[in-house]
Amino acid sequence: MSSEQIRRPRTIAVHAGGAVDRETKAVAPPIHLATTFERGPDGSYPGGHVYGRSSNPTRERLEGALAAMEGAAGALAFASGLAASHALAQTVKPGGRVVIPSELYYGTGVMMRELLPPVGVEVASADMTDPDALRSVVAAGCDLLWLESPSNPTLRITDLAASAAIGREAGAVVACDNTWATPVFQRPLDLGCDVSVYSTTKYHGGHSDVTGGALVVRDEGPLLDRLRVIQNLGGAVPSPFDCWLVLRGMRTLHVRMEAQAASAEQIAGALRGHAGIERVHYPGWGAMLSFEVAGGAEAALAVANGCELFIQATSLGGYESLIEHRASVEGDVTTAPAGLLRVSVGLEDPADLIEDLSRSLRKAIG
Ligand SMILES: *Cc1c(COP(=O)(O)O)cnc(C)c1O
Repeated sequence: MSSEQIRRPRTIAVHAGGAVDRETKAVAPPIHLATTFERGPDGSYPGGHVYGRSSNPTRERLEGALAAMEGAAGALAFASGLAASHALAQTVKPGGRVVIPSELYYGTGVMMRELLPPVGVEVASADMTDPDALRSVVAAGCDLLWLESPSNPTLRITDLAASAAIGREAGAVVACDNTWATPVFQRPLDLGCDVSVYSTTKYHGGHSDVTGGALVVRDEGPLLDRLRVIQNLGGAVPSPFDCWLVLRGMRTLHVRMEAQAASAEQIAGALRGHAGIERVHYPGWGAMLSFEVAGGAEAALAVANGCELFIQATSLGGYESLIEHRASVEGDVTTAPAGLLRVSVGLEDPADLIEDLSRSLRKAIG
């Protein structure tokens, strides 16, 4: 099959990086565990690989697939989403400035604020849903503009094209954490972003059994070159087995996302009609939602505890539905409303999920 014939994202997700093994004709990709590769008589590397940290055939398949999904120049796989985010943050030189959203994935904010100031990089935040607010924060300097949409945990939507334009004008590298939308629902590189950032732990893996991250970079050039250096020398690379699991998960990304999002929409609708719920946060697409129950943290925890199908656990993107009280996970510095529960909608029958939530809501808050 020639790669030119593969065009549409759903087809790419099924086939990219999936070439039949040349030696054995195995249809499923092999997992290459070798950490080192034989050199040729002249000292060259005829297999194209030198050492496992620098590259690996299984990782190469995954990286090729991640890039193909977004028509990108390259992709780099990491050991976690935060390792990927940190690698990108490390491209900012001392004296530089990173602008992050005022609401974003908790771990990203903590990582930036803990790890960047000690190396001389300033971290500022802006309300990205307001272009004027963003423009004024960026005006004080911006080397890396970090976008996340929908945001965590209240699923605010940022106009990626407008924000990316503001970042580009300021000369910043523009990145978008696209973990929650995935390329199925949103393509940041087509909207002017330089890099799509992923925790592949979530929807790409899809089965809550692998931790991983990725940077998908639109263009060849100094940024991609520098990231390759940081990936190799920083060494936060995923194992071959982890790469294999993420690639396997990607084969069903579209069907999972579409089914989970259809269920999420139904659940959001059912929650909106419920008396004890003050607000439902659902942007109309995607498989994540959150809602705020009357009665604060205590009531919210009672609702989470009362569910039988939804597992009370952090994380998201797996085939199983999860529910989580964010404020108590994040502690003192949380921006999550006290009564907010975050839901990752899985692949169960949505009618069962709605029944489970309704039953728990009735029991906890009437
Ligand atoms: C989970 C998550 C991350 C962090 O990824 P890890 O794989 O846990 O390191 C970053 N951003 C978003 C939006 C996430 O959901």
